[in-house]
Amino acid sequence: MTATQRREELIGVLREMETEHACPLAAERTKLVFGAGNADADLMFVGEAPGANEDLQGLPFVGRAGALLDQLLVEVGIERPKDAFTTNVLNCRPPGNRDPLPEEIELCEPYLFRKIELIEPKVVCTLGNFATKLLSGSQTGITSVHGEPQIHQLGSRSVVLFPSFHPSAGLRTPAVAAQMREDFAKLPGLLG
Ligand code: URA
Repeated sequence: MTATQRREELIGVLREMETEHACPLAAERTKLVFGAGNADADLMFVGEAPGANEDLQGLPFVGRAGALLDQLLVEVGIERPKDAFTTNVLNCRPPGNRDPLPEEIELCEPYLFRKIELIEPKVVCTLGNFATKLLSGSQTGITSVHGEPQIHQLGSRSVVLFPSFHPSAGLRTPAVAAQMREDFAKLPGLLG
């Protein structure tokens, strides 16, 4: 697929989400947060759900959690949005930043898989439990699986799934940020 075709297909998915996606959170959101970055990159980040800043701007990880994510990535030579496409399990902000509900995840899941299918990343770095459990298909928590690459069939392709902690957890707990730093040090090698 050419870069132009990829972009057009992704815009098609976005339009469909705006018009047909029956998300119960749609009525409460300011903006849908579809995802942003380089759709031709080999690296994709998948977080949990938009927060207040993301909801206002319509872009993923633009608040304090995003700033920590960017800082840790720059240390290993990775720059968002140039080197990665970033999205979330949910595309609308849950009220008060509560956890995503199973039915909300289920409704958004097909769109996440379509994005992965179109972007064709080599590496999908899941940030936190929600994205990791959804894409690994396992209920094993992030503390046990972070920093260890796993090979998964995501859609029609084999992809390296690389779980790490959610940057909000890194903001709360410096030891978690330190573990994220160690995890992210493996990313350049995985991208090869
Ligand atoms: N937390 C997330 O999981 N995603 C965002 O986009 C912002 C904060």
